[in-house]
Amino acid sequence: MSLRSGPHRRQTFFRVTQVAAVVSPRWSTEESADLYGPDRWGEGYFRVGADGSLLVTPTREPDRATSVVEIVKQLAARDIHPPFTVRFPQILEDRIRRIHESFLRSMDEFDYKSGLRLVYPMKVNQRKEVVQELLRSGDPWNYGLEVGSKPELLSALALETPDDALLIANGFKDTEFVELAASGVELGKNVIVVLDKLDEAHLVTKVLKEQPHKPHLGIRVKLAARGHGKWAESGGERAKFGLTVPELLHALEILKKAGLADRIKMIHFHIGSQVSDIKRIHAGVQEAARIYCKLHRMGIPVDTVDVGGGMGVDYDGSGTASSASINYDMREYTNTIVYTLRTVADEEGVPHPTIVSESGRAVVAHQSMLVLELLKRVPEEMPLDQALPAEGDHRIVHELNESLGGITLKNYPEAYHDALSSRDEAMQRFNLGVLSLSERAKAETLFRAIAAKVLKFADRDDNLTDEFLDLRKMLQHKFIANFSLFQSTPDVWGVRQVFPIMPLTRLDKRPSEFGTIVDITCDSDGEIRRFIDVVDVKDTLELHELDDDPYHIGIFLTGAYQDTLGDFHNLFGRVHEAYVTLDENGRPSVDRLVEGDTVEEVLWLVNWERGELMDLMRDQLRKKARSGLLTDERAAEVIEGFRVALDGYTYLEE
Ligand SMILES: *Cc1c(COP(=O)(O)O)cnc(C)c1O
Repeated sequence: MSLRSGPHRRQTFFRVTQVAAVVSPRWSTEESADLYGPDRWGEGYFRVGADGSLLVTPTREPDRATSVVEIVKQLAARDIHPPFTVRFPQILEDRIRRIHESFLRSMDEFDYKSGLRLVYPMKVNQRKEVVQELLRSGDPWNYGLEVGSKPELLSALALETPDDALLIANGFKDTEFVELAASGVELGKNVIVVLDKLDEAHLVTKVLKEQPHKPHLGIRVKLAARGHGKWAESGGERAKFGLTVPELLHALEILKKAGLADRIKMIHFHIGSQVSDIKRIHAGVQEAARIYCKLHRMGIPVDTVDVGGGMGVDYDGSGTASSASINYDMREYTNTIVYTLRTVADEEGVPHPTIVSESGRAVVAHQSMLVLELLKRVPEEMPLDQALPAEGDHRIVHELNESLGGITLKNYPEAYHDALSSRDEAMQRFNLGVLSLSERAKAETLFRAIAAKVLKFADRDDNLTDEFLDLRKMLQHKFIANFSLFQSTPDVWGVRQVFPIMPLTRLDKRPSEFGTIVDITCDSDGEIRRFIDVVDVKDTLELHELDDDPYHIGIFLTGAYQDTLGDFHNLFGRVHEAYVTLDENGRPSVDRLVEGDTVEEVLWLVNWERGELMDLMRDQLRKKARSGLLTDERAAEVIEGFRVALDGYTYLEE
């Protein structure tokens, strides 16, 4: 039996695109599609359009498409400028439907004789608008919620969910937490309090003794099987949560004694997030299924297995078990869970358990993208015609200029070596005081021009030795983007996550530049230096030459975890958020706009109140005005500018 749903969907791609980016004078939208890979990571939601712009198809109906820059234009008309997040509720709806349908098809295929209940783990993105959209889209399936803290629990209690939708309470608990969770029962919610640690068996028995309405109980088990990669520590014997098998038996004794054994309904596990290898999923489900069956046979009334989260997202589109990818698709994931649960239950002669899934990342990652504008490129280069040697310039400048004119496909390696030693000599002479600043500037400029030409020949020659790969690094630029990496893509910094990034326009033009993307924080870690690649991770991204028109790029698949992990480094605040849907004809409309933080709001986070700041400013201005250093009119202008800025966006506004 094969768990694979179809022919292997992955193909092997070659690195030709990087080379082509430099050499080929012509360029097609297909080449852009291959280079940036939206067909590989976009799950049918993004593709390159014939006009060279990036299209979004939130419902995956190919004709119902719009270019993302059209949305950027609509927002500009409302005076909303990058950086901002665009969310597509239709993508969210499609993800929820796909996951449910995938499970249901797998259950059908394997003749599974029990039900399915999905819950959304709130920690993945608690934004009110996102959760509301999720519950709206999930309503036909009785989509429920999973919480791991009191704030999450309180919001889940307050939200109206379909009758009988699950509310699963995980995480560290105190008396209040358990009491609150139990109150959900009175609201008609199907509450399951999960014991994450042995001592919670004592806590729960103590609290529930007093409660007329008792929730169901689940037990999180600590499996020997674990995930792999960045989040592997969530599973395995050293995991933070879950009961070992001896602890599980002990907990059963405690609950039995308290007369709560009949409330035990569910076995829960979570082997970690972004599990890239399907074998790990299989191993986890198999182990948990055994535990479920053994408990069932002991007479414990368990009828549900919660398989946690962990379904990954193919960020780099490689379809491999590397940390930014997954070696399975959604159907293989659901097939693996359903087939394994059924097989183990049949072997043990136990009814198939109801399946609960807590997939978070795979549900919400695709619906959000970040739109940024690239402001400029550094270093700025001196135009070559200004670097031509003048009479009287040092010999080295002349030599470099001659060398630049004489490079061919046949001599480029020697020419490069000569240029390297000329450059070193130029630096020595400069340090000895022989070369002027202008001569040094010319020598540097000519050397970079030589290096660029050499790189073209090396690429054409397929000469990808270390020496010439280093050249790429040397010639790369930094592109300054108006955003804070710490606020909008914190995982780039925190766990070296790679997200797909690409230009939103000019995809019919050859990207002749390459470089890294730096944010506007004063932190040298605020730089994206790793980019997706099918066979590796690239250290530069191909981009177009900046001109007078705004140049927008998108960072994609940012809907999971980034929103609340983001921080206020340098006091850059939350970005604007636009919720965009497409009508039948593909026309986009901004249904909801949540404006980003103002300067006043981020200052308030660190206890600076507006009134106090205004007073402090006024005091200073008054003193200066009194001593005649400032006119009253000028003081009024300054305070007005200050007031306007407090109401403004924290990012650069031009
Ligand atoms: C984080 C978490 C999830 C969600 O995991 P994803 O990998 O985002 O699907 C599910 N369940 C529990 C208990 C979690 O802690």
